[in-house]
Amino acid sequence: AKTAGRNAVRFFDPAMQAILVVRMLLESNLRVALANNQFQLYYQVQVNSEGKLIGAEALLRWIHPDRGFISPADFIPLAEETGLIIPIGLWVLETACAQIKQWESSKETRHLTLAVNVSAKQFQQPDFVDTLSEIIRRHKIDATRLKIELTESTVLDNVDATTEKMHELKKLGIAFSMDDFGTGYSSLAYLQRLPLNQLKIDQSFVRDLSHDENDATIVRAIISLGVNLGLNVIAEGVETSAQRAFLIAHNCYAFQGYYFSKPLPLEGFHALLKAPESD
Ligand code: C2E
Ligand code: CA
Ligand code: CA
Ligand code: CA
Repeated sequence: AKTAGRNAVRFFDPAMQAILVVRMLLESNLRVALANNQFQLYYQVQVNSEGKLIGAEALLRWIHPDRGFISPADFIPLAEETGLIIPIGLWVLETACAQIKQWESSKETRHLTLAVNVSAKQFQQPDFVDTLSEIIRRHKIDATRLKIELTESTVLDNVDATTEKMHELKKLGIAFSMDDFGTGYSSLAYLQRLPLNQLKIDQSFVRDLSHDENDATIVRAIISLGVNLGLNVIAEGVETSAQRAFLIAHNCYAFQGYYFSKPLPLEGFHALLKAPESD
């Protein structure tokens, strides 16, 4: 029986212990996932204002043999903490570049760009530029088909080193999109310095666009800012035709969201390519 008085140090907190054990289990499962090919890339279409399919964002899925789908929101944070995001992120880049190579071989898919999320920890690896250059060379792909999505915090964490890396990768032809834009602490000073191609409006501003005047103002301002900086602007989380109409009316360049399609496994994405384009 627990008889520890109020001054006794408690070495054992069952609730805390349970959390630690669950974390350890998740970490070891993540290692198994990597070794046993339990990851898959899903592809979510990106469409321009004419409704033309211009590319996709690659989104990681963990298909666990017993537990089924595990959302990246549930394992990316731990992968980042444990450093497992490095090998996982490498797998994502390898798979994405192999996919670009496959798309290059067909007239219908040659024009597509593939956007890949790269986490701060991965981008900040000292050898990231060399590693990615090697992958691109080995797959013999046109690097202009690859786009890297970085968040504001990734860049702000170490502006000088990040900017330099971005410039080196840009020389290879790789494009950059500022992901979740508007949710971080951007400043005009660094936005102008970064070799960006795109701002991606975070879905939190798109969600209530049609009835929240603040969000509508923010979205209009982000699009204007992008235009002024010579960047294209893409909106994520577009779910309704009203949102799309607002964004088109304010000169947003491209769109992504359930209104067009959910993220799909490769076969589903390819089926979309063959489907007649709707409006
Ligand atoms: P994100 O980069 O902001 O990706 C957008 C998320 O919104 C995706 O969630 C996508 O499935 C979801 N989404 C797309 N359209 C809609 C929509 O119309 N409505 C709503 N409500 N949601 C929509 P997902 O796939 O669960 O990914 C969550 C996050 O996990 C991503 O957020 C990204 O930060 C991270 N992630 C995903 N794949 C990777 C990866 O390969 N590497 C790294 N480092 N992070 C990844
Ligand atoms: Ca993203
Ligand atoms: Ca987002
Ligand atoms: Ca994100």
